[in-house]
Amino acid sequence: MPVTSSNVRVIVHEAAHQWFGNSVPLGDWSDTWLNEGFATYAELLWAQAQGKEEARAVLQAWRDSVQNRPTRPLVARTPAELFDRSAYVRGALALHALRGAVGDGPFRAFLQTYARTRAARPTRTADLLALARTELGPRAEGVLRTWVESPSLPPLP
Ligand SMILES: [Zn+2]
Repeated sequence: MPVTSSNVRVIVHEAAHQWFGNSVPLGDWSDTWLNEGFATYAELLWAQAQGKEEARAVLQAWRDSVQNRPTRPLVARTPAELFDRSAYVRGALALHALRGAVGDGPFRAFLQTYARTRAARPTRTADLLALARTELGPRAEGVLRTWVESPSLPPLP
């Protein structure tokens, strides 16, 4: 198989699960977006390291996949929602919105704190929101909470 940016992205995604999914375990299956949203977001971080064009393409693909399609609050309510588009793409966009609200440096520090403090501790969406509040402040938590809870798709970051 030729090495393409799309199958490299699969490798990046799966490698990210070493932290988000393996090291930081889920507290409940309904929170699969914590694994899939973070691993999907790693694909954008990788694309950004490759250059602007690659990153722009990833973001556009995400926007195209969620706009004018059904979406849902991020905590899954049915088995069919565990690994749906919202878990992956809306989850990743939630993190992108948080990053936009706080800036790159605080966002990166937050990811590191999340991975470090939640390692080997079953984690739920409420734990992520609480950490966002203590590490980044109530406004940042509010941005993330909107993406977690809103029945409709929040304005795209
Ligand atoms: Zn995954």
